[in-house]
Amino acid sequence: MKQYAVIGLGRFGRSMVQTLREMGCDVLGIDSNEDRVEAVVDIATHAVQADTTDEETLKELGIRNFDIVIVAIGKDIKASILTTVLVKELGVKLVIAKALSDLHGKVLERVGADRVVYPEREMAIRVAHNIESGNVLDYIELSRDHSIVEVKAKPEYYEKTLAKLDFRARYGISIMAIKRENGDIIVGPGGETVIMSKDIIVAMGTKDKLRMIE
Ligand code: ATP
Repeated sequence: MKQYAVIGLGRFGRSMVQTLREMGCDVLGIDSNEDRVEAVVDIATHAVQADTTDEETLKELGIRNFDIVIVAIGKDIKASILTTVLVKELGVKLVIAKALSDLHGKVLERVGADRVVYPEREMAIRVAHNIESGNVLDYIELSRDHSIVEVKAKPEYYEKTLAKLDFRARYGISIMAIKRENGDIIVGPGGETVIMSKDIIVAMGTKDKLRMIE
């Protein structure tokens, strides 16, 4: 089983600990603030109070033995960057770091973060798409041009096959999955799949083309 450590137990870090635990993973929660540590003792596999900008402390915690480390420190940019550098230098293979701004994110990438997440911005984009088109249930940005959307099927698609609708040739959109009202999920649906009323479509494509089905 993969071993996770989450450093920084604010709202983001705590939610991360909780979700990973619910998924059955082992998670060590670390924060320099005693109250923040206290708040996750019942959720995390282990929780410790430590300043992760101190190399010796990280060594004592055996941080290099963790498969994935999530640096969820935000406001204290110096601590976020120092922690990311040290954790990477100590040999952790996959380090995911939270950034509060573009510049912060760029620096985290420079110092070795394998992935940088921007929780506020990513959530704002999802919510904006959801509000703007009541059909969009979820939205994931893949790159500047491409995204994945989860949308309610438009009534004009009902009772038609994917071959007939031909999203790929018409818009370059790939249908990755279809969720039925009864909870069934068809992954990688073929051309013969018929869209039913209340279906939810998970589609990938360029942002401008996806607007056609949102
Ligand atoms: P969120 O937006 O996730 O709620 P936050 O607003 O509480 O976060 P952040 O600045 O993102 O604040 O910090 C997250 C956590 O990181 C805090 O609980 C803070 O105590 C912890 N933290 C900051 N510096 C260090 C450090 N050097 N070592 C360990 N934990 C730290």
